[in-house]
Amino acid sequence: MSSVLRLLTILSLSLVSGLASPGPNPSGCPTLSATDHQARQSLMHYVCFYRAAPGDPAHQADGPQALPTDLQWRHAAGHDLVFSHTKSVYWISLTVQNPGKHQGLWYLKLNYPLLDDVTFWQTGADSDRRLVTGDQRPFASRAIDYRYFLLPVTLDGGESQTITLRVQSSGALNIPLTLETPDEVIAQSNHLSLTHGLFYGALLVFAIFNLLLFISSGTASYFFNAFYMASMGMFMFAMGGFANQYFWPDNAPVANAAIPLSLVLCALSMTLFGRDFLEIERRTTSARVVQVMAWVCVGFLALTLALPYSTTILLNTVLGLAVIASLFMIAVARWRQGYQPAMWYILAWLVMLVGGLIYALAAFGYLADFLVREALMQIAVGGQVVLLNYALVQRWRLLNEKLLSVEHSARTELEFKVHERTAQLRNTMRELEKANRQLAALSLNDALTGLYNRRHMDNILPELCAEARRTGQPLTLALIDADHFKAVNDTWGHGFGDTFLQLIAEILTRHVKRPRDVAIRFGGEEFALLLPGTDAEGARQVCTAILEEVGGTALTSPDGTAARITLSAGLASLAPGEDRASLFERADEALYRAKTEGRNRLRLARPVPVNTP
Ligand code: GH3
Ligand code: MG
Ligand code: MG
Repeated sequence: MSSVLRLLTILSLSLVSGLASPGPNPSGCPTLSATDHQARQSLMHYVCFYRAAPGDPAHQADGPQALPTDLQWRHAAGHDLVFSHTKSVYWISLTVQNPGKHQGLWYLKLNYPLLDDVTFWQTGADSDRRLVTGDQRPFASRAIDYRYFLLPVTLDGGESQTITLRVQSSGALNIPLTLETPDEVIAQSNHLSLTHGLFYGALLVFAIFNLLLFISSGTASYFFNAFYMASMGMFMFAMGGFANQYFWPDNAPVANAAIPLSLVLCALSMTLFGRDFLEIERRTTSARVVQVMAWVCVGFLALTLALPYSTTILLNTVLGLAVIASLFMIAVARWRQGYQPAMWYILAWLVMLVGGLIYALAAFGYLADFLVREALMQIAVGGQVVLLNYALVQRWRLLNEKLLSVEHSARTELEFKVHERTAQLRNTMRELEKANRQLAALSLNDALTGLYNRRHMDNILPELCAEARRTGQPLTLALIDADHFKAVNDTWGHGFGDTFLQLIAEILTRHVKRPRDVAIRFGGEEFALLLPGTDAEGARQVCTAILEEVGGTALTSPDGTAARITLSAGLASLAPGEDRASLFERADEALYRAKTEGRNRLRLARPVPVNTP
């Protein structure tokens, strides 16, 4: 009887607990009421977990039913489940109940896309389902086409289900869980789509723009910047689970390798960009450090393809941090050296340093909230990209200013040189003119006597004739020739003859006083006087005086005797309508007569013969 009573009591208790209040579940954790929004917000108070190290029977268990019945579940007690790199298997248990009358749908969301193996078991009164997924499997293994793991939980009115998760991963192990209604999932997904679209879109536009700048300008910095943004974008894309979802949904190994690969490419492009942008001089310590870093990046690239994910992700994270820190220090050194654009680079790097730390904290399991981490990383990378591009613009501006100042100083120098040369040229021209004038004067003067020469006579005689004709003023030409001059030379030598010629010239100059009168030596011992405004009579007087003075002047000859000389002259005045050839001829004829009639005299020319038709 007592046994029957006991059975009844157990039956009725289990009935009451099954219908009214959440009953005990395998882990001993409280049951979550799915309709209670407040309770869902503090989901981690309803989660229990068990860490099964290798060797533990639970490590090998292939389902909740295979777990030892006396398993020591631990309460999450409101804390997020975050574990560093570990080989352990984690079992998580959550019991959910729908206290309402109608069927409802919720989603259990595992907000971390990078877990290797995830298996969900749903165990309820009339359901027992299993979902095997994880980023080591094709993307289609997920219940819903979403970058995170979403498990639909359908509960009839009053139904409760125990959800058990088995998680194993080679990277950091974060198990951020939420239970959301479809409305909440859609709303959050929408907001995230917007921020992701903005972030990746902006990154893509910056990368393409820099590539175009590189193509058109050939400046390597733009290429490395584009390369950096592309690899950084790829890294974030893969980290966010998008690469897995959109690029390689059927190729889990590639999708997983994309993370360490893009990370090492980031480090390489950062190094190359830094080297170029900071204009690090060759053969300096900085240059050597950068060189070594670039080669280490290349080496790590090869290692990433060869080593397992769990090793390379660690190695490459350390490499990334080392590169960021080294470039930061080099930038500071360059800034100290007075390289202006380094300042913007440093700012960009400070932001990136924060991003790198956030990433590292998460990678080693110290930052649980995946969404917060992603948002912080996006802000850091976005800020860095904007600052880096601004740094490039600053550098371009500086180069441009330098170019303009070089151009300006070149132009000023050129102007100065042109001025200088022009001044020199003007001086030279002046000197040349002076020389020309001297030359012209020389060419018009006779070297021995200093009188004008025949060329001058040829130049001015036509002018004087034309002027005389125009004004009606007289013009007289006197041709004067030394008598027996050959004998002077023959007797006392040529040098003494020259002295005589100089004497005659001096006497001629003295007698020809009017400003426009011209005395000329036009042959060896032949002279001419051009006397404008002087008629034949006036000329006769002048010549008579000259003849007398020359005849009366004695020079002491080389042999001590007094040497004398006489002159003969022929005079002709320009007749109306007469040309200069005729004038010259008439004067010459008069001279000839003076010679033939005994020398030491002057003769007037015959009048111009009148042409009778
Ligand atoms: P005439 O009375 O007929 O004029 O006789 P001339 O000897 O003076 O005439 P001619 O024409 O026969 O000789 C001119 C001489 O003048 C010949 C030459 O030796 C001399 N003579 C010409 N030019 C110079 C010169 O520059 N210096 C000197 N010392 N003699 C000159
Ligand atoms: Mg003569
Ligand atoms: Mg003579």
